[in-house]
Amino acid sequence: MRQITHFIDGKPWDGVAARQGDVYDPATGAVAGKVDFASAADVGGAVAAAVRASAVWREASIAKRTQVMFAFREIVNARRDELAAVVTAEHGKVLSDAAGEVQRGLEVIEYACGIGTLLRSGFNESVSTGVDSYSIRQPLGVVAVISPFNFPAMVPLWFVPVAVACGNAVVLKPSEKDPSASVKLAEWFVEAGLPQGVLNVVHGDKEAVDALLDHPDVRSVSFVGSTPIARYVYERGTAHGKRVQALGGAKNHMVVLPDADIDLAADAAVSAGFGSAGERCMAISVVVAVDPVGDDLIEAIRTRMAAIRTGDGRRPGCDMGPLVSRVHRDKVVGYVEAGMAAGAHAVVDGRGAEVDGEPDGFWLGPTLFDHVTPDMSIYTDEIFGPVLSVVRVGSYAEAVDMVNANPYGNGTAIFTNDGGAARRYQHEVEVGMVGINVPIPVPMAYFSFGGWKSSLFGDTHAHGAEGVHFFTRGKVVTSRWLDPSHGGVNLGFPTQH
Ligand code: NAD
Repeated sequence: MRQITHFIDGKPWDGVAARQGDVYDPATGAVAGKVDFASAADVGGAVAAAVRASAVWREASIAKRTQVMFAFREIVNARRDELAAVVTAEHGKVLSDAAGEVQRGLEVIEYACGIGTLLRSGFNESVSTGVDSYSIRQPLGVVAVISPFNFPAMVPLWFVPVAVACGNAVVLKPSEKDPSASVKLAEWFVEAGLPQGVLNVVHGDKEAVDALLDHPDVRSVSFVGSTPIARYVYERGTAHGKRVQALGGAKNHMVVLPDADIDLAADAAVSAGFGSAGERCMAISVVVAVDPVGDDLIEAIRTRMAAIRTGDGRRPGCDMGPLVSRVHRDKVVGYVEAGMAAGAHAVVDGRGAEVDGEPDGFWLGPTLFDHVTPDMSIYTDEIFGPVLSVVRVGSYAEAVDMVNANPYGNGTAIFTNDGGAARRYQHEVEVGMVGINVPIPVPMAYFSFGGWKSSLFGDTHAHGAEGVHFFTRGKVVTSRWLDPSHGGVNLGFPTQH
């Protein structure tokens, strides 16, 4: 059985944890490892290591930071399969999907390799006679990153490379459900030349998170997880004067207009609805079928679902793995039952799905509901499982009103061949990431990732220019060097330039 412990000051922690958690193999249902849970004092040790490292790392030249980032990129790239295997073993997603997650993380590392350009700022000569002005951006110090279970490699990589490249030291608290990917990344960063203590990993639950939120030496918190916890993290972190970006849950709608290409829309709905067993914050969970597209679209989705092979993510040929835990699987099954009880029509019921795997794995096959209405819990709640709901509406206006009335605003997509309608949707919809004939519009690393409304608390999205902004503080310098124009003491504000 694997023993997973914290990674502090460049090495595995040598303490004894008062509490531990189980790490499962979701495809067998067996406990595969034990992970140490940090107490507040353990978190304090990690923060202290980060404070020491931060004093050194903030002075490292941009050239040095860039070299470390390039070396880290080479290591992750060379070992991408190893990292994907770690993700699949603890999360359950199929290997090809885990490889895709690693790829997206790599893209953020590559973005951070350009830190010299990203930190370049403005300079104005002669803002007044003999006076120049320029802005600089400096690291915050020690920053915390708290990540969810569903992207154990990618979400830490949304933040850590940018934070580190900006000159910060990091304490990362990954999900206790799949903690190993974070430790691998921290080990590889040290191998790439990152000084000890610049990236520390602590495992655990609420106790560890609260300790980070309350610690006076933690300057900022980057959180990704469910909406109630994101709101809590934002409120508690900002109450302590920290800068907080807290990305929350989602309920992503895909609007299909009558002129859409049905095959394209059905392919998209199936891959975006059931990829990673629906455990993606950008998963499509509601298809809004605008009359009269419903019948044809549902039939096209149903046909494609029959080809999905559910099974152990490590086995070749499986398209969809198990859910992350038994508790979560049972919760999602509860939603399927609630949908039926509320009168939605189960076109495909995943509870009976044939599975290529162990009987005790956390399985649920893909499920499709038709005639879902906005009052049903399968519509109102984020299910985070392989359950796709179809809501039928009479017009584009009804569709956009429904999406905008939803409390979440992470991602959305519209499928149409009408450029004017697509453009109108992109303009009117109150969602942070919009796809036009693209079901999962995840921005590339050089754009920023984040939703609106209850999908994000705080002002700053992840990575891209907003990420660099989040992990730095701005300073403006006004300078004058003695020259013959120096005119002696003047107690007033300058009136002549
Ligand atoms: P979660 O909110 O349960 O946990 C996220 C993190 O918070 C974990 O590190 C966990 O240990 C910690 N945590 C859990 N309960 C806590 C508590 N009471 N107090 C303090 N900390 C606590 O989320 P999850 O189940 O790991 O991940 C799935 C959720 O994340 C979904 O809601 C999904 O939409 C969301 N998510 C959002 C995005 C996004 O970009 N908006 C991306 C990925 C996942």
